[in-house]
Amino acid sequence: MKRAIVWYTTDLRLHDNETLFKAIEENDEVLPVYCIDPRYFETTKAGFKKTGKFRAQFLLESLKDLEQGLRKRGSGLMVLNGRPERLLDELCKEYKVEKVYTKQEIAWDELQMQNATEKSLSNCELIKVENSFLYHKNDLNFVHGKLPAIFTEYRKQLEKNAKVRDLFICPDKINSPNIEEIIWPKIEDLGLSSIVKDSRTAYDFVGGEGAAMKRLNTYLFETHCISKYKETRNGLIGENYSSKFSAALAMGCLSAKHIYHSIMCYEAQFGANDSTYWLVFELLWRDYFRLMMEKYPKQFFLKNGIQKLHNLNFKHSEADFENWKQGKTEDDFVNANMIELRNTGFMSNRGRQNVASYLCHDLKLDWRLGASYFEEMLIDYDVSSNWCNWAYISGVGNDPRNGRAFNLEKQATTYDPEAKYRRLWLGQ
Ligand SMILES: Cc1cc2nc3c(=O)[nH]c(=O)nc-3n(C[C@H](O)[C@H](O)[C@H](O)COP(=O)(O)OP(=O)(O)OC[C@H]3O[C@@H](n4cnc5c(N)ncnc54)[C@H](O)[C@@H]3O)c2cc1C
Repeated sequence: MKRAIVWYTTDLRLHDNETLFKAIEENDEVLPVYCIDPRYFETTKAGFKKTGKFRAQFLLESLKDLEQGLRKRGSGLMVLNGRPERLLDELCKEYKVEKVYTKQEIAWDELQMQNATEKSLSNCELIKVENSFLYHKNDLNFVHGKLPAIFTEYRKQLEKNAKVRDLFICPDKINSPNIEEIIWPKIEDLGLSSIVKDSRTAYDFVGGEGAAMKRLNTYLFETHCISKYKETRNGLIGENYSSKFSAALAMGCLSAKHIYHSIMCYEAQFGANDSTYWLVFELLWRDYFRLMMEKYPKQFFLKNGIQKLHNLNFKHSEADFENWKQGKTEDDFVNANMIELRNTGFMSNRGRQNVASYLCHDLKLDWRLGASYFEEMLIDYDVSSNWCNWAYISGVGNDPRNGRAFNLEKQATTYDPEAKYRRLWLGQ
């Protein structure tokens, strides 16, 4: 009898999940496990929670949805409290497990945690699977085998040479040892307060594969919003100006490949246009930042990022940073966006670019303060997308033009010409 553990992290789904698929295929029984690692709820050196209440709530919902999906297939989910490097080895011994399957991590802290867990396994192999990318890493044939330093170059090479792979099927039945029902922790057990929903929220995010599939279907086939995405994507108000796939993608409730194949299906039925292409284009950014993070797992968290700059001096002003966080700066467009983030855990891409530019180029504060605050607050926090976008805007990431400084007044006039967005959040 071959038995394996599927150690879930940020891949909380059944569909298109190579980790789960492989474990089922190569073993007689699988034991799905998730560890609520206290490190993810600690306060960082910068003074922020690593996970704030919006994402914690989304995580609990995603876990419950996954557990139900696994139960329907004859399995279940074992949810443990503690560090995986202290828990998994014992579990392997107890259940006579020979292999643990998990998603390959790429960023520094996650890698340390994964490596420590691998070392802690006394008689068991850790099998790491790449299952978050749109394009499989083995299919990327870059010139000279090198990841291009500029996104456009990467995209051109990729679109010329690679193909998105087929989906892994969602299992109908999973053989598992008996897994007891879970007593679910409450958000307060994670040291966080519960959420009060704000009626102004752009989208009522609900965690889990079920909700993610529903959103995908709505955005594509029910409303056809996908076919206008390129024109609406810089919007600020409401649920349909952009896909709102981000939280599900970040938690792994939805696979990028599944979105891609659904768009291909949509195009076959209703026709392709610039908008249907553009959503895939944005998923390429997501992949690109993941590849960059993999290449520089530590540098993206350092002051100079991936650039070799020397005289990078930041201003130190707690008051300026506090005003930025609270939405009390001199710029009402920044304020509206920061208040939206504080009340809902979400902010549009246009908003994120502007508030980040303001922090880096107007207030001249350390960009890592902004990135850390986003890490706590964002419902869709994704380590690569967050830190690489911040580095990009501040000028220490991939941008060949040494950073992106936005003209805030012009941005507000262009994207919020009647100040509707600012009125919504500032209440004037
Ligand atoms: C400073 C800053 C921090 C950010 N932090 C995050 C983060 O932690 N998590 C996150 O998912 N996105 C992050 N983004 C990217 C982007 O703002 C969000 O993905 C997007 O606003 C989420 O809304 P949506 O799903 O409706 O996006 P859509 O416009 O519908 O895009 C579809 C998907 O494409 C991907 N995508 C779009 N834009 C980007 C981008 N610039 N970089 C990487 N992927 C992208 C996302 O997965 C997104 O869900 C950040 C951007 C900036 C400027």
